[in-house]
Amino acid sequence: MINHLITQTNWQTHLSQAITSVDELLSLVQLDRSQLGVIVPDNFGLRVPRGFVSKMQVGQADDPLLLQVLPTLQEQIPVSGYIQDPLNENEHNPIKGLLHKYESRVLLTITGACAIHCRYCFRQHFDYGANLPTSKEQEAIMNYVAQCPDVNEVILSGGDPLSISNRRLFAWLDCLEAIEQLTTIRLHTRLPLVIPERIDEALLARLEASRCQIVMVIHCNHANEIDAHTARFLQALKVAGVTLLNQTVLLAGINDTLATQVELSQRLFAAGVLPYYLHVLDKVAGAAHFDCPEQQAIDLYWQMLAKLPGYLVPKLVRELPDRPFKTPINIYKAV
Ligand code: SF4
Repeated sequence: MINHLITQTNWQTHLSQAITSVDELLSLVQLDRSQLGVIVPDNFGLRVPRGFVSKMQVGQADDPLLLQVLPTLQEQIPVSGYIQDPLNENEHNPIKGLLHKYESRVLLTITGACAIHCRYCFRQHFDYGANLPTSKEQEAIMNYVAQCPDVNEVILSGGDPLSISNRRLFAWLDCLEAIEQLTTIRLHTRLPLVIPERIDEALLARLEASRCQIVMVIHCNHANEIDAHTARFLQALKVAGVTLLNQTVLLAGINDTLATQVELSQRLFAAGVLPYYLHVLDKVAGAAHFDCPEQQAIDLYWQMLAKLPGYLVPKLVRELPDRPFKTPINIYKAV
């Protein structure tokens, strides 16, 4: 591990100093381009914070954290069935920045920015430019939510909602808390794992003071993403009353073994986080090499059920376009 990368700087500095050069990344993990078939993509280029790199193993071409961020030639091989908008999100976009697909909750894409670029991301081709709400549209979003009495929860997503400043984030929270019927605000974020310093004192105090229940769904794919430093920030969120859940994407060659999934669930629990979803991959163009056959996912899931207590087994699901809920994978079916 390369711990010398971790400094006492604030989170904005960590964000601005993220590595965007493949050569710099490979030099830090002491690997050679020729070992990996790396590319420099035109869009959705490499982005990885130095703290996340510090959790990678030096000299390991198959490091599970490295494989999540390194652009490789495999992305450029077209595979039938893997498309730009696998969830057909553009169809559920009544107002810029708002997705309304589920009955009791809406999702807001409040930023297109992420601290890290995950190579399997289903929104890697999403047109954020066309979907980011202006302040006028923010008002329209609030009116829309207020007029949907069945909606009691708003999900802040992106991009990564914690990549915006506290000032902007708190402004969203203020507006949402003013909508009477809302009971819950949920944040979907990878920041606590990739720049744990994002969980600063001001954010903790604001979340603790919210009149709504705050749920944070982190997105951790491998136990190595949670070291002692990261776990301290997750524990601080728990102390502030935040409900912490995790969603994982099942990724070939990264977390598709029993040992990896068991260690992940146990590490999450030790840090105060409960496993929530284990997603099979959304079939997005450029990510086919991360996909696991469904039968392999089912076999793995049966092993997890046998090995882990029920509260540490996430739900195995697939997101299907036009289904108003995550679809449980039928583990009794022979595929
Ligand atoms: S942090 Fe989330 S939204 Fe951003 S690239 Fe990774 S998976 Fe996609």
